Amino acid sequence: MSNGPLPIRVDPRKLAEREVRIAGDAALNSMPNLCQALVDKEGAVRVELQFAVDEQRIRTITGHAEGHVRMTCQRCLEPVKVAVEADFNLGIAASEEAAKQLPRSYDPLIVEGEEIELLPVIEEELILSLPHDAYHDDCSIETSFGDAEAVAEDTDKPNPFSVLAQLKANNK
Ligand SMILES: [Zn+2]
Repeated sequence: MSNGPLPIRVDPRKLAEREVRIAGDAALNSMPNLCQALVDKEGAVRVELQFAVDEQRIRTITGHAEGHVRMTCQRCLEPVKVAVEADFNLGIAASEEAAKQLPRSYDPLIVEGEEIELLPVIEEELILSLPHDAYHDDCSIETSFGDAEAVAEDTDKPNPFSVLAQLKANNK
């Protein structure tokens, strides 16, 4: 099943009344604050959100986001692939004041107007879910590409003698 991108703007109260479920991909390059912590902007995070109204008539957004990003390994400074995962349990409030009335089980999402941009909400949770420092399990077995799959696929490593020959050639 392929997923399109998430909608940019939504009316969360309307979606909650209709109990809409949204699934889609959030491209990393559309989340600039998240990208500041990353090595590159390639890829996307898969997002599923369920809008609903709970028994106290609170509009809620619950769901999940997961994917992989690349951060800098703090030991060898090469890229390392990091799994990110965030859970959403948001209660919609019209103001800071109203947010204080929400049950503590919800993270408040303040929506003053009708519509909000969805990506910044997802981005914020993803930033919170990032590890403070990222490390390879074992830097010595990771390639300069920084992920284990690349090691397995990389069968045509240059022969050390031809590298040496090239170094000599370059030094002439
Ligand atoms: Zn490393």
